[in-house]
Amino acid sequence: MLYARVSTRDQEKEGYSIPAQVKLLEDYAALNGLIIASSHVDVETARKAGRTAFGEMLRYLRRHPEVRILLVEKTDRLYRNIKDWAIIDDLGIEVHFVKENFILSDDCRSSEKFMHGIKVLMAKSYIDNLSEEATKGMAEKARQGLWPSIAPFGYANVIDPSGRKVVVVDPEIGPLVTLLYDWFASGRYTLTSITRKARLAGIKGRRSRNPIASATIYRILRNRFYAGVIEWGEAIHEGVHEPLISKALWDAVQDILDGRSSTNIRANPREFAFSGLIKCGHCGCAAVAEIKKERYIYYHCTGYRGKCPERYVREEVLEERFTAVLDRLRCTDAEFNLMQQAILAGQPAIDPDELDRRYRKKGHLFPAPGALMRNAIAYLDMGRRAHRSLASLPTEDKRQMLGLILSECFWANGELSVAFHRPFELLVAWLRQVRCGSGTDFAHRPSAALREMFQDPSPGVRRLIARYNAMVAVQADDGAGEAASIQDNWLLEGEAA
Ligand SMILES: [Zn+2]
Repeated sequence: MLYARVSTRDQEKEGYSIPAQVKLLEDYAALNGLIIASSHVDVETARKAGRTAFGEMLRYLRRHPEVRILLVEKTDRLYRNIKDWAIIDDLGIEVHFVKENFILSDDCRSSEKFMHGIKVLMAKSYIDNLSEEATKGMAEKARQGLWPSIAPFGYANVIDPSGRKVVVVDPEIGPLVTLLYDWFASGRYTLTSITRKARLAGIKGRRSRNPIASATIYRILRNRFYAGVIEWGEAIHEGVHEPLISKALWDAVQDILDGRSSTNIRANPREFAFSGLIKCGHCGCAAVAEIKKERYIYYHCTGYRGKCPERYVREEVLEERFTAVLDRLRCTDAEFNLMQQAILAGQPAIDPDELDRRYRKKGHLFPAPGALMRNAIAYLDMGRRAHRSLASLPTEDKRQMLGLILSECFWANGELSVAFHRPFELLVAWLRQVRCGSGTDFAHRPSAALREMFQDPSPGVRRLIARYNAMVAVQADDGAGEAASIQDNWLLEGEAA
């Protein structure tokens, strides 16, 4: 009888392979005139720690009383715990520990048996000690605000310039986690319906690449990590990683999951398009919505930082102002085509392979293929038509579209002031340049900046594009036959100059 085993840890070291063990044991058998009746091999993986071959071997030995010699390489190959030792001892067989040059049998002197017992205990304590060290190291990492394990969904493990193992936002998947929280916080979804929505948005299981499971979504929605917190064992630490959501949003989602929230489908039949988007320009507080006379939606400063001079504003007024802001992105087909040229045909032309290489070198996670550039252009196209589509979109989509275009909005003295996300900031600059007649020189700053942005997008820009893609994918299904979707709107004819 031959038994060999490798553990996950062993596989990383050399000379611990199964073939090496088996060969050693076969050679030993040949040398000593033993015939191998049966061989049993256990290969442990991180996923599966069970030892099926060990069990088979025991059954075989019980069924075949004529097989009385067991060959193994070393003590720690055979036993993983004290219990294994007792079981083998009960069988009353002879065990040859080939590498240790030791035969355990009933004929052994008691001192030999004793020494063997010590070896078993030491092997066990060695393993215990190793895992204790590893556990200590991980807890220490968590204390420093570093995630000590495989990155949660939406993040990736990378090594930072100083050689530290850190966790960064995955530019493609991270924004989808933010979306999940946003959607769920609206109170419109159950776990089942949000799973459906997530699948439509193309969210897949990380390893399986199958449509995401609702259990995974539940775990994501429960994970504090996304709000910047490291929960390790019993302890909670402030993480150094970039959060994908605010702590307030995390709390809101927990309330809904726990059934503590009044935000649910029945209690909140009306949604507010602009809540959470606008800050008060006087005091920086959020502007919140409220229904008056059961009909009109008004927004006002929460006034958390003392009495605020800003007055209430009607939702319709805000929508007009947003439309006026979006009008700055409006451009003709001719202008837009020109801009596409600036992005795509800029010089010097960059080889896609070279792009990918540069992208990886910067520590980004995914190559930047042409598809990304096409998505980027669709994203810009959405923005230039947004002034027209805003009014016709369903409430939830209004908010999402504005979130994709604007990075900040302030309301003060009856005026809306905004900051565009970088791509649209550049679009506005580019339009100004083209329209004031300074031409379409590709070397000119706005052109060059646009080109650079999309040929080698920053993680932030990639996130915006991923969010945009997810939204379009959802709308393609949701909006069928219903209200206008953003996608429908970009299929409309472009405008004349
Ligand atoms: Zn205020």
